[in-house]
Amino acid sequence: MLAVTWESERKALLIAAQAMATRGLVAGTSGNLSMRLGHGLYLVTPTSTPYDTMTEADLVVVNGELEPVDSDGVPSSESLVHIAIYRARPDLTAVVHTHSVYASAAAAAGVTIPPILDEVVVQIGGAIECAEYGPPGSEELAIKAAKALGDRRAVLLRNHGAVGAGRSPAEALDVCTLVERVAQTFFFAQLAGGAKPLPVEVIEAERAIYRMRSGLKP
Ligand SMILES: [Zn+2]
Repeated sequence: MLAVTWESERKALLIAAQAMATRGLVAGTSGNLSMRLGHGLYLVTPTSTPYDTMTEADLVVVNGELEPVDSDGVPSSESLVHIAIYRARPDLTAVVHTHSVYASAAAAAGVTIPPILDEVVVQIGGAIECAEYGPPGSEELAIKAAKALGDRRAVLLRNHGAVGAGRSPAEALDVCTLVERVAQTFFFAQLAGGAKPLPVEVIEAERAIYRMRSGLKP
């Protein structure tokens, strides 16, 4: 038994998990969340567990191969996507995956949501790309998701859902909430004559703000 129990991390991840459900970003036991613990370890939500009855003890500490290190819990099958993102992005500490309706609609259409609102660039880093398709739970999906994420904080999983990331579970969840609202705005803008991206020079200036706030090199 490890001496470290990651109490505050378990608390933060569970709060975000339950908020994800109450915000309507998932249905049933779908979606999943994780947090980087350091030392090559990650805290992830368990598979097939209702969010309203999930406890801090249900959260699973795994290594980079998704092997539980201090319990017999079963990590979410989609955790490979989270691990791939942590490996590609040392600046990120938490990842949240949702099946929210409008973001999933964009993912089903294979549409990348362009930078149509200032907050998309300042908070997400630019367009919300739609990754190429990969089967659920596969290494292929994980690689494609991390690649399409690039240096931004959100990505769509083609024919599946959305992923948001941040430096805490609360921040990653807020990214997912923003993704859903932006996807909804995008579809209404298309109906209202067509969504128009921000001017290129504005995107450049706002991306500089995003990278600075994210601790990324200019
Ligand atoms: Zn999923």
